[in-house]
Amino acid sequence: MKSLWNDEEARQFQGDLGPRVYTSRLLGRDKSLVLHGGGNTSVKIREKNLFGEEETILYVKGSGWDLETIEPQGFSPVRLAHVLRLAGLPALSDPEMVNQLVTHMLKASAPAPSIETILHGLMPQKFVDHTHADAVLSVSNTKDGEKRVREVYGKRCVVIPYLMPGFELARYCAGEFKRHGTSETMGMVLLNHGIFSFGETARESYERMIELVTLSEKYLESRRAWSLALKSSTCSAPGAEAQAGLRRRLSDAAGAPLILRTVTNERTLGFAAHPELARVSQQGPATPDHVIRTKRTPMLGTDVARYCEDYRRYFGEHAPRAKEPKAILDPAPRVVLDPAFGLAAAGRTAKDAAIVAEIYDHTIDVILRAEALGGFQALPAKDIFDVEYWDLEQAKLKKGGNPIPFAGETALVTGAASGIGKAMVSALLSRGAAVVGLDLDARIETLHSRPDFVGLRCDVTEERQVRSSLDQAVLALGGIDMLVLNAGVFPASRRIAELPAEEWRKAMTVNLDANLLLLRACHPFLKLAPRGGRVVVIGSKNVSAPGPGASAYSASKAGLNQLARIAALEWGADRIRVNTVHPNAVFDTGLWTDEVLEQRARQYGMTVEEYKTNNVLKTEVTSRDVAELAAEMCGPLFSKTTGAQVPVDGGNERVI
Ligand SMILES: [Zn+2]
Repeated sequence: MKSLWNDEEARQFQGDLGPRVYTSRLLGRDKSLVLHGGGNTSVKIREKNLFGEEETILYVKGSGWDLETIEPQGFSPVRLAHVLRLAGLPALSDPEMVNQLVTHMLKASAPAPSIETILHGLMPQKFVDHTHADAVLSVSNTKDGEKRVREVYGKRCVVIPYLMPGFELARYCAGEFKRHGTSETMGMVLLNHGIFSFGETARESYERMIELVTLSEKYLESRRAWSLALKSSTCSAPGAEAQAGLRRRLSDAAGAPLILRTVTNERTLGFAAHPELARVSQQGPATPDHVIRTKRTPMLGTDVARYCEDYRRYFGEHAPRAKEPKAILDPAPRVVLDPAFGLAAAGRTAKDAAIVAEIYDHTIDVILRAEALGGFQALPAKDIFDVEYWDLEQAKLKKGGNPIPFAGETALVTGAASGIGKAMVSALLSRGAAVVGLDLDARIETLHSRPDFVGLRCDVTEERQVRSSLDQAVLALGGIDMLVLNAGVFPASRRIAELPAEEWRKAMTVNLDANLLLLRACHPFLKLAPRGGRVVVIGSKNVSAPGPGASAYSASKAGLNQLARIAALEWGADRIRVNTVHPNAVFDTGLWTDEVLEQRARQYGMTVEEYKTNNVLKTEVTSRDVAELAAEMCGPLFSKTTGAQVPVDGGNERVI
């Protein structure tokens, strides 16, 4: 492992906290050190308070912050003297510990300090870094892990047996550090949990972390337990319908829609076909912290009911021993290993599912290396249960605020690169849905760079392209719960007497035939939507009030309108709602340049402003107006409505 320290970069981090922010980010950048909110760092700084008195403030990573992206305000400033006084108490409950730390911060708006704050405070050095490095866990999570860790680190690290994070662990570490620490000590290994390093400067503490982790890497290398290849498996890729069915069963078990991300590659297929899979995968996570995201064990195969039964048994076995009464979490697995598709990761959002997949990817490394070293051995189930059902960890999860309306749900939008389609993507994302956008335009691929958006180039008139896009969408997100039929063409004005058959056919192919293909191909997925499927058709005012010169457009949209009404009739029994919005005169789309607008306005003897607001309400209709209404139609407000057609046109006399 290499130090990522760079003088030039480091210079950009000024002030007392600057270097602490910088090296925290360096740790966060390397996923084999910490993953998503894991690990924590601190620095002790002498400061003058409002009264001119000097005191030492412990700046420690605040909960909810990720080391990779932490900012100065991500550190909670706690009075060190109070932390040390707390450490002297004979006992302190977790909720009281949190209360004491939060009420002894300098800034009311700072995040709650890390659960390991007292431990950071008790370490005498100015800078303290803590990670869950893969390499250290690989050595530690073995049958004779303690012996091996001592062999690797000698006097460099104090070795602490596993204890649950919190007050007791902090006090125990401080005691051991006093007893066994020497001038050569530069860190501390917490068996089956992770590693600490210390230093007088940010750089020293960070580079000691790199040095210490490298020692574990070298140890693994010297025992041929570092680079390990998995035997590739030749199973065929899963069908999208099978994955959507699995996601539905997982969502039902979780009591809420989940995103399911399938990762099928040589590595995941190879691991899922590991000859000792049941033994190595069913012991527990690489470090207890992961349990919150991954649950204690992955599900092997796809029998969700059986997994849930086992999970309830695990809860029933350990809950009675807890100090306070515990309420069971949903029993659905978050990691699935199956020889047919490798790995699938479930989460309440696409981001959560991506995090689960990444954590398990690292878990595979830890397991394989520990196996090569002499046998992977995780903590007993009891210890993992204590962390999974720890009040403080539960609080972290509950902090998410009010659930967003489409959390865990997925949507597919056609013609999504611009205009109403693009606004539709934003409206759905802002309501928490994960969205797949299809478009002919290559800009779709880079429309958003976030885990809950997949942009695919696709010609929706080509059935094969549609099917392949749906397969990709379902493997990335688990299903299609909402379908927005938006893609369409608006041919140039032409009277019937002069209309070439070619133009007529093009309008029919894009505006009508393609939507039949999409509806047909999406039906099995919409049927499996955990909360019932929803289709929104972006229609047109022209359906009820056509205009001369727009025969191809009006006829194709009218055909689509009938198709949608019949879909509403046929699919109601499958819990699929089909509704239509009829926009008119939406000018903020790519089709309408300033020039065209002026031309049209002049034609009608109006100003551009008059032309844009030429409706009953004298108001302009934007893509966003259309998209917001269409998104609402997928939500609970319209849950009892299907087959509806709602105008969004500012009021049109011919329609009214
Ligand atoms: Zn930790």
